[in-house]
Amino acid sequence: MLHTIFNRIRAMFHRQAPDPIVMSLEQRAYLQSSVSFYQRLDAHDKQRFENRCMAFINATEIVGHDLEVSNLDEILIAASSVILAWGFERWHYVKVDTVYLVSGSFNDSSEFQRSDSNISGLVGTHHLRGKMILSQPALHHGFANDNDRHNVAIHEFAHLIDMADGDIDGLPRQLAKHSYALPWLDLVAKKIQDIDSGKSDIRHYGATNNAEFFSVATEYFFEQPRTLKRKHPKLYRALEDFYQQNQADRLRADRDAKKAL
Ligand SMILES: [Zn+2]
Repeated sequence: MLHTIFNRIRAMFHRQAPDPIVMSLEQRAYLQSSVSFYQRLDAHDKQRFENRCMAFINATEIVGHDLEVSNLDEILIAASSVILAWGFERWHYVKVDTVYLVSGSFNDSSEFQRSDSNISGLVGTHHLRGKMILSQPALHHGFANDNDRHNVAIHEFAHLIDMADGDIDGLPRQLAKHSYALPWLDLVAKKIQDIDSGKSDIRHYGATNNAEFFSVATEYFFEQPRTLKRKHPKLYRALEDFYQQNQADRLRADRDAKKAL
């Protein structure tokens, strides 16, 4: 009797287990050629990274608004989400329901090619929660030039992490824990003041508000971690602690290994 029940349960789980999704050679080649974060991983972690990317692609709708979504587009969007969640034990990727890819930047009225069409990405709130819009050229540029502290997909996924506790306010849940919140808010206020008075190398857009500061600082953390650590050690440490990733040391180890070749 018991044996039959176990068999039934096993069969049920077996039926429900999704087919393993294997990354295609083309997708892997895109990761290898376009995503430096992936390039720096060892073989075991590359496999984990690929699995997480495929899980993201499987769970997310990526829709071309006025263009066809390519394998490269999918991989870059998935990689952005996986990079940000890499150090989190419980999250394999940062979740979004639908990503709309558009052919260029747009303005507040969703118009392209206007003088004020300078928005390259955004995340939805309220009834548009779970939706993200990205400009395809900006998405590609973010990875083609990976040390200019600009990466629109990393920026927008950072907003989603911030939003995970309900609000986009530059104070994600983990930083909002009692012991972190006040020093973090003080630090952000000081850094925004420095930007406003022209005394900072952090992108000016970060001074818009605390939420934009968090996303802009995140771009800096992932694109130029060693410079961030040198010029803004407290901010670097806070982000390292938050993302559970020691980006500066990883980058140095990678450079040293390349020099030794
Ligand atoms: Zn933003």
